[in-house]
Amino acid sequence: MKLIEKDKEIGDLIEKEKERQETSLEMIPSENHTSSAVRSALGSILTDKYAEGYPGKRYYAGLEYYDQIEDICRERAKKLFNVVHANVQPYSGSPANQAVYFAVLNPGDTVMGMSLPHGGHLTHGWKVNFSAKYYNSVQYEVSKETNLLDYNAIQKQVQEIKPHLIWAGATAYSRLFDWKRLGEIADSVGAYLAADIAHIAGLVVAGVHPSPVPFVHIVTTTTHKTLRGPRGGIIMITEKGLAKDPELVKKIDKAVFPGLQGGPHENNIAGIAVCLKEAGTSEFKEYAQQIVNNAKTLALALIGCGFKLVTDGTDNHLILINLQNKNILGAEAQDRLERAGITVNKNSIPFDPNPPFKPSGLRLGTPAITTRGMKEPEMEMIANWINEVISDENNCQKVRQEIKELCKNFPLPE
Ligand SMILES: *Cc1c(COP(=O)(O)O)cnc(C)c1O
Repeated sequence: MKLIEKDKEIGDLIEKEKERQETSLEMIPSENHTSSAVRSALGSILTDKYAEGYPGKRYYAGLEYYDQIEDICRERAKKLFNVVHANVQPYSGSPANQAVYFAVLNPGDTVMGMSLPHGGHLTHGWKVNFSAKYYNSVQYEVSKETNLLDYNAIQKQVQEIKPHLIWAGATAYSRLFDWKRLGEIADSVGAYLAADIAHIAGLVVAGVHPSPVPFVHIVTTTTHKTLRGPRGGIIMITEKGLAKDPELVKKIDKAVFPGLQGGPHENNIAGIAVCLKEAGTSEFKEYAQQIVNNAKTLALALIGCGFKLVTDGTDNHLILINLQNKNILGAEAQDRLERAGITVNKNSIPFDPNPPFKPSGLRLGTPAITTRGMKEPEMEMIANWINEVISDENNCQKVRQEIKELCKNFPLPE
C-alpha cells in the first residue's frame, strides 16, 4: 500500500517537499540529491533487524546477509579511499568524530581544531560542544589578512600547546588543505592527526581535492554531502595511523560499539555501500570535476556582480560571500533567496563583527545543482538572480518564476 493511502498527513508533506526540491535550487553546500538506488537500499527491510557487533561477531542471530552487506560496504570504502580499515557504523558525522575522541583521548586531554566561525566544525572543539566540555580544546584560526590557514602560525601554536589530537577539515573553507604540512606539524609533537573530510569526500575520491590519506592517521567523513549517499558517517584508519598505533583499529571499533552506539543502521550501511559503488565510477569523477568548475564559474560571476567573497574565490564546492558591502545581513539574504527559490544558509565569516546568530555571510555550494546536470551557463544565471534578489527584495517573485522554469529542464535524479 502506498504511504499516502496509509498516512495521508505525512505522505502529503513528503509530496510537497518533493515539489519544493524539484522547483527550487538546493545550494546549501552540505546537501545533495541521492539516486533512487541509494534510497531503495535506505527504505528497504534492512531497517528491521538489530546487528550489534561487527560482521562475523554479532550479538544477534539471522544476520547472514547483513554481514555480507556491511563487509562489502567496508571493502568499498577501503578501496575507494585507499585506507587499511573502515568503520561504517557511525550514525552520522558527529558521532564518527565523537568516536575518534573516545578512541584516542582521555577526558581532559588537549585537542586542537579550527574555530567554528573560521570554518571549522562544532565537533572540532567548539565551546558549546562535548568536544570542548570534556576535553581541553584549543582552537586555531585563519589569517586575518588572507582568511587562509596560516600553517606557520598553526605550527607555532601546536608546538606551544602540544595537543594529543589535531583536527583538520571544515564546513566553510573554500580552499585546499595542505595535508602534507599538517602531517609534519602533527608529527613534530607526536599528535594524532584526524582529517575530517565530511564536505569534500566526493571531491577527494574523484581526485579533484588532494587526499589526506598519506599524511594523516585517521580520516572521518559524512556520506551525504559531496559523496552523495544517505546520511551517515565513516571512520577510516590509514597505513600511517596503523604505524603510529597498532591498536588503532581495535580502539576505533570498540569506541563505536560498544563505546558509543548500540545497533548499527544496516539499511543505511547498504545505502552507503551503493553510494560508494556509484562514487567509484567515471561518471562520478566527471560529476566531482563539474562541481568545482561550477563553483569557480559561480564565484567569478558573483565577483562580477560586485560581491566580496572570503578568500576571493574557491578551489572546491563552496563559496562564502561577505555581505558587508551589500548593506544586508546573512539572515535577510537567506530569507529573500528562499522566497526566490534558492536555498542557501547564513554563515559567519572569519573575524565577523556580528554574533553567530546574526552573521555577515552567506554560504552556498554547487553539489546538488550539479547533480541535476547544471553547468557553467546556469551558474551565470544563478549569480545574476542572487544579485537581483539581494539588490532589491521586489525581485523575489519574478526570480521565483524564472527558477521554476529553469528547474523544469533539470529534473532530480531518478
Ligand atoms: C557536516 C560535518 C560534520 C557533521 O556531520 P553530521 O552528519 O551533521 O553530524 C562533521 N564535520 C564536518 C567538517 C562537517 O562538515
